[in-house]
Amino acid sequence: MLENQIKNAIRDIPDFPKPGIIFKDITPILKDQKLCTDIVDALVKQTQDLDFDAIAGIESRGFLFGLMLANKLNKPFIPIRKAGKLPFKTIQQFYDLEYGTATIEIHEDAFEKGAKILIHDDLLATGGTVVATSQLIEKMEGKIAGYSFLISLDFLNGNERLEKYSENNLSLAR
Ligand code: 5GP
Repeated sequence: MLENQIKNAIRDIPDFPKPGIIFKDITPILKDQKLCTDIVDALVKQTQDLDFDAIAGIESRGFLFGLMLANKLNKPFIPIRKAGKLPFKTIQQFYDLEYGTATIEIHEDAFEKGAKILIHDDLLATGGTVVATSQLIEKMEGKIAGYSFLISLDFLNGNERLEKYSENNLSLAR
């Protein structure tokens, strides 16, 4: 079963990036070509019936499968990046995360007003990053079509924070 394959491939790294944090390292997934293919196929299956215009992937691990998914669905891909990385004019959003604070940015011409955006990231923890991404998209008058993750850490209750933005909260593993 794909969910178990994903969970088995992910390795726990204690005390990264700070003491007390157990980091879920998804890089072993990337070494497994068959698993990567199965993940993209499953992401396509989960999202293909949603009504959306583009996929926004969150730096950096949201780029890995986000672009592959967008490409398979013939949709544009929009990179959401940490401050100072995008070369063109940007719109910013500040937020708190599990370990510290951060700013994310999007290019101001990333999509047209009213566009429906599916947000993709590798992992949902507290939800801070995707909430900030949702606020950024709404600031640009986009609509949140839903969320797509490889894995959601349900015990951190990030899901509840997403309810007010979209009812479509999809994850391959929990
Ligand atoms: P949140 O904002 O939901 O607390 O954290 C999720 C964001 O931080 C995602 O962008 C994700 O890539 C990153 N992140 C936080 N904790 C982990 C983790 O244990 N493993 C991985 N792969 N990413 C994490």
